Amino acid sequence: MAAFSTPLLTLDQALERMLGVVDPLDEIETLALTDAAGRVTARPVVSPVNVPPFDNSAMDGYAVRLADLGGSAPLQVAGKAFAGVPFSGDWPDGSVLRIMTGAPIPAGTDAVIMQEQANPVADGVCFTAAVKPGQNIRHIGDDIRQGAEVMPAGRALGVAELPLLASLGIDKIQVIRRLKVALFSTGDELQPIGAPLAAGQIHDTNRFTVRLMLQQLGCEVIDLGIIADDAQALRAAFHDADQRADLVITSGGVSVGEADYTKAILEELGSINFWQLAIKPGKPFAFGQLEHAWFCGLPGNPVSAAVTFYQLVQPLIVRLSGRVDWHLAPRLRARLLAPLKKTPGRMDFQRGIFYGIPEGGLEVRSTGPQGSHVFSSFSQANCFIVLDAEQGPVAAGEWVTIEPFNHLLLS
Ligand code: AMP
Ligand code: MG
Repeated sequence: MAAFSTPLLTLDQALERMLGVVDPLDEIETLALTDAAGRVTARPVVSPVNVPPFDNSAMDGYAVRLADLGGSAPLQVAGKAFAGVPFSGDWPDGSVLRIMTGAPIPAGTDAVIMQEQANPVADGVCFTAAVKPGQNIRHIGDDIRQGAEVMPAGRALGVAELPLLASLGIDKIQVIRRLKVALFSTGDELQPIGAPLAAGQIHDTNRFTVRLMLQQLGCEVIDLGIIADDAQALRAAFHDADQRADLVITSGGVSVGEADYTKAILEELGSINFWQLAIKPGKPFAFGQLEHAWFCGLPGNPVSAAVTFYQLVQPLIVRLSGRVDWHLAPRLRARLLAPLKKTPGRMDFQRGIFYGIPEGGLEVRSTGPQGSHVFSSFSQANCFIVLDAEQGPVAAGEWVTIEPFNHLLLS
């Protein structure tokens, strides 16, 4: 087997290969803004309007003409301007206007004086502070100019983006169609969650994990259920998945056991780009191509499946989805509180808990047993402790690299 003669790919090499061979989807659809959450802009968005759309007051106070100021006599209040109810009458020389925040600036106004600097008296108002020309006036187009690009193509639309578009009066948006991802678990031992278990059976965790992650990433999920460790059944599932999806994700069956058919069938129906990586957990991960769809084979152990999805499938999906706004998670340095076991050879993604300390900086400790079947230690973690391939055991007090994560909230 090639794995024994050539060194396994590193995570970075694997990512480079995957991202190097796939092209983003380019099919576009037009959606109402209200239906566009989680979708990706297909074109740059240009503002159809100025924001703000007119000069308006930044304060509750008084609109004034500078020429009228400087005397000691009170100035008469000639009218009022509210947000949504502009003042459109005349205001005689020597008078001022009461104005509220957001109200259009009446013609002739030189400045707005905030009401905290005004002294209302019986026959008008006196001002208590110096006035600068233009003060407290928000000008048309200050925030966004009509015709300016407010968003590039490839931006995922969420709570930061959609309200901005709404404020510009945009009610329809061109987006890239959703990525279709077919998913199935393999294993004779697997039962759907909630089903009773006979001897030797376990619940299918991975399909649940992966479906959640796919939903977070805005994919259209085609859930093909559990497929038995049977070459014929797997062939049929692969064929079906390939017809319906852009990407097929399986879990299990990519190790070297006697019931591990996934890789063999992929070789028969498509081609393998790589199999096995120098990472722990997640070594048996496979990537390849079927007749129509891309293929990712996740290892069966639940932590391996989650880690390889996070580290490899997530960036692939982001690229296929046309997003340009996504970056690899930041890696930080933290001081290790208790020793870690590590054998040189593969890059480790151990599960840890990190936190800030009052003196500044970060501390991290392992969440406990690190076996690839121990989902509880993944579940308690808020970061990966990333240990380089060559690294051996790590002593308490040493500095290590961590990669914070937010479990299934991936983007
Ligand atoms: P495999 O990669 O098929 O050899 O599976 C490796 C280990 O992961 C075995 O202990 C399987 O029972 C377990 N496993 C496989 N698939 C799943 C799954 N979907 N959910 C939970 N455990 C699984
Ligand atoms: Mg299996």
